[in-house]
Amino acid sequence: MLVFAAGGRAMNSEIAVVVSERLARYGFGDAHPFGPDRHAAFMREFQARGLDARTRAIEPREATYEELLAFHIPAYVDLVRERSATGQGFLDAGDTPAFRGVYEAAAVVVGATLNAADAIMTGQCRRAFVPIAGLHHAARDRAAGFCVFNDCGVAIECLRKRSGLTRIAYVDIDAHHGDGVFYGFEDDAGVIFADIHEDGRYLYPGTGAVEEAGRGPAAGAKLNIPLPPGSDDAAFARVWPQVIAHLEKFKPEFIMLQCGADSLEGDPITHLRYTAASHGRAARELCQLADRLGHGRVLGLGGGGYNRANLAHAWTAVVEGFFLE
Ligand SMILES: [Zn+2]
Repeated sequence: MLVFAAGGRAMNSEIAVVVSERLARYGFGDAHPFGPDRHAAFMREFQARGLDARTRAIEPREATYEELLAFHIPAYVDLVRERSATGQGFLDAGDTPAFRGVYEAAAVVVGATLNAADAIMTGQCRRAFVPIAGLHHAARDRAAGFCVFNDCGVAIECLRKRSGLTRIAYVDIDAHHGDGVFYGFEDDAGVIFADIHEDGRYLYPGTGAVEEAGRGPAAGAKLNIPLPPGSDDAAFARVWPQVIAHLEKFKPEFIMLQCGADSLEGDPITHLRYTAASHGRAARELCQLADRLGHGRVLGLGGGGYNRANLAHAWTAVVEGFFLE
């Protein structure tokens, strides 16, 4: 559906979602918290709510080697490729096992995020969502916490290169701190970072203290808000306005939301207690902000979430939030 904004410029109001079994291949086996059934859990709820009929489907693709190098160092990308061929060993100190085809599966997640970002930038849609993405722990030179390639980091670098954007916001409401994105851009003033997470004294990866606000030219461009274990929707609501105020100050040209569902009550590996309402609110208010800024660009990335019902509810709440209803 095309609508006309003030001034007569046509703006596409559609919402796009990457739907593909290819995304489900990114998983570490049925017994692992990051199992391949996460995709199916989301799709069942997405269809049950009729969202498949209201959104445009985008296909993923495998990101190229050169695209991966926009964020990662060559030695690390080569290591993933080698271990992917044998399926042996780990890609970090012991959280993230290699499996046969892990390179291709991880590159498809990155390609899905890049296709979604491109769809927004070319006006095919106004917002987009990618369920099995937002792999925020991967560093430029290594895997971490179930994350092989950091699709958020690659997308930020590619958006700058291809579209000339200079201010990109990254908002993260996953229970875990988005350390791969934070340290990947810690001294980069062009990445406006805001992250609400469980206090690192109680949860992996242990980072994201209030004092970590960016370095050098980026001092003040990063906002870390740790919450104590047990924090609920009311606690989220108390701090969320700080995220909106932080973004309003920097006026980003594109907003990325890593909406990990492991911050909901009942997740098996974290201790926060939100409901999906917090995720819906975050999505809605970021869209309102993006609209106020005149571009409307919001890209949602699923992130963590190891209770299947929780991720289905949180992620569909985000897609519904994109409609601003
Ligand atoms: Zn997480």
